[in-house]
Amino acid sequence: MSVETRKETLGFQTEVKQLLQLMIHSLYSNKEIFLRELISNASDAADKLRFEALARPELLEGGDPLKIRVSFDQDARTVTLEDNGIGMSRDEVISHLGTIAKSGTADFLQNLSGDQKKDSQLIGQFGVGFYSAFIVADQVDVYTRRAGASASEGVHWSSKGEGEFDIADIDKPERGTRIVLHLKAEEAEFADGWRLRNIVKKYSDHIGLPIELPKQQFGEQEQAAEVEWEVVNRASALWTCPRSEIKDEEYQEFYKHVAHDFENPLAWSHNKVEGKLEYTSLLYVPGRAPFDLYHREAPKGLKLYVQRVFIMDQADQFLPLYLRFIKGVVDSNDLSLNVSREILQSGPVIDSMKSALTKRVLDMLEKLAKNEPEQYKAFWKAFGQVLKEGPAEDFANKEKIAGLLRFASTGDASGEQSVALADYVGRMQEGQDKVYFLTGESYAQVKNSPHLEMFRKKGIEVLLLTDRIDEWLMSHLTEFDGKQLVDIARGDLDLGKLDSEEDRKAQEEVAKSKQGLLERLKGALGEQVAEVRVSHRLTESPAILAIGEQDLGLQMRQILEASGQKVPEAKPIFEINPQHPLIEKLDAEADEERFADLSHILFDQAALAAGDSLKDPAAYVQRLNKLLVELSA
Ligand code: ADP
Ligand code: MG
Repeated sequence: MSVETRKETLGFQTEVKQLLQLMIHSLYSNKEIFLRELISNASDAADKLRFEALARPELLEGGDPLKIRVSFDQDARTVTLEDNGIGMSRDEVISHLGTIAKSGTADFLQNLSGDQKKDSQLIGQFGVGFYSAFIVADQVDVYTRRAGASASEGVHWSSKGEGEFDIADIDKPERGTRIVLHLKAEEAEFADGWRLRNIVKKYSDHIGLPIELPKQQFGEQEQAAEVEWEVVNRASALWTCPRSEIKDEEYQEFYKHVAHDFENPLAWSHNKVEGKLEYTSLLYVPGRAPFDLYHREAPKGLKLYVQRVFIMDQADQFLPLYLRFIKGVVDSNDLSLNVSREILQSGPVIDSMKSALTKRVLDMLEKLAKNEPEQYKAFWKAFGQVLKEGPAEDFANKEKIAGLLRFASTGDASGEQSVALADYVGRMQEGQDKVYFLTGESYAQVKNSPHLEMFRKKGIEVLLLTDRIDEWLMSHLTEFDGKQLVDIARGDLDLGKLDSEEDRKAQEEVAKSKQGLLERLKGALGEQVAEVRVSHRLTESPAILAIGEQDLGLQMRQILEASGQKVPEAKPIFEINPQHPLIEKLDAEADEERFADLSHILFDQAALAAGDSLKDPAAYVQRLNKLLVELSA
């Protein structure tokens, strides 16, 4: 090796140390993936070089074809990967191979349990990358030089994967990166031509540039001065191949490469579009949410290629935000090679690609839901909450998105979010023309809500919505399949034809006969209520609170308050059940003080049942205790 100068030893970022520990100890069952990860990086490096060379062709330094070479030395127990991609400068080596820049990494690592089995599952959400080299190696040497830099600007990085790494300047005439893995004694099996070839075929066949291995001679690497190299992979960009020629495994491995994921995707959709616009897209639904799904800066968007040349990662202009979990590639023939993020912001080409790609994703999800309900369940669990942002963001596809939503329901005892609006509509009763739903804080709370009493009695299904986003979602989703979606806690519940003419008459009569009681209650509760009226929601409970037609519900109020916004005060409507013995007793109560106490208790109880907190809990307790004392006296 050449002389090393400016040698220093640096410590890994704490997060890297933790990750390395975890990787070394928890990925022992699938060690061979180290090669996939390193080849994936080499392929990215070639993509980046091609891109930078568009503006600065001199970076290609003569134009040696881009490739990756994998070799080994059984005696020295090493495996070496060499690429002639973009390479790294000293600063880049220090930051790329010494730190993890992903937002939320510290939080993620903090959440690890220490249970190796569980943690190795978690690490899949993270993506393993370069550090996976330490699964099989107890020392890794990286020799690299950035394209365009002079031969003396090479860098040597070396680490045993413990707490630190050495870094030094070296001479490196050829551009690109060479990585030497010094295999652990027990991993010597990887220094073998057949083994390496099989691993490359298995995981990296889809890589778009040639991966070369030394030609085999009875399993031994040839020792002659001139090594003969042989391409062992497909070596053409996967998405350019016809669908019929691509195996599922190849689609899956390609996904892991583009998504930096460790696990298989749930579904994919590969399409070539010809005509006014020409592009190819290969879109994937990941198998589970990444740890940083809700981080603002989390990577999102597709890998953009123009005429097979990689242009950028995270091109987020091609899909709406509510589909930000979709991964994949789009390769356009219409965009210019020097397209920039600014140009991508809008324009007819981008707009029409975005709307077509959005449709593709929604179609893919529809198909998944229809053909593979178990897989769709997994999808919904991981990304359902994100999809719920859809109806507000994407007016044009509202109905399609609505069809993909899943809810808990009184029609499904599992309590899981598994009922589609179409399932609900299919089960609607004779005479029912609306879809009923109830929002609340938790499934346990809404499942027992007094709002459901009349629905239970009449056997009408109600969707139970308990995600934080649900009330907001429903404020944008007012119809499905021509049927109005109705919040049963809101306004004056009208069951339409589900109530008979007699029911209605009876209700009116009762309301009239209770006019006196309603006024007394209004007097006792005063400013706390917007209105007091006779309920036709209840069969068992004495009273209930309804929300005004235009008022914010509890969930929205809580969200807005939590974000520090001032929320206009909304008074609830207090509804009573005149058939209930407590209400009958109240009606007969002559003592005004006792009447007031009882009214307040009923009001507060109704608030509690709705999942709200009391404005004056101490007063509630006092009143209740007063009653209890009288009872036991
Ligand atoms: P990821 O590929 O998800 O970014 P990795 O841990 O695999 O994460 O790699 C970290 C970074 O190191 C890469 O993003 C890249 O900048 C750099 N890197 C790794 N291998 C190479 C290589 N062969 N050539 C150039 N840069 C590389
Ligand atoms: Mg990588």
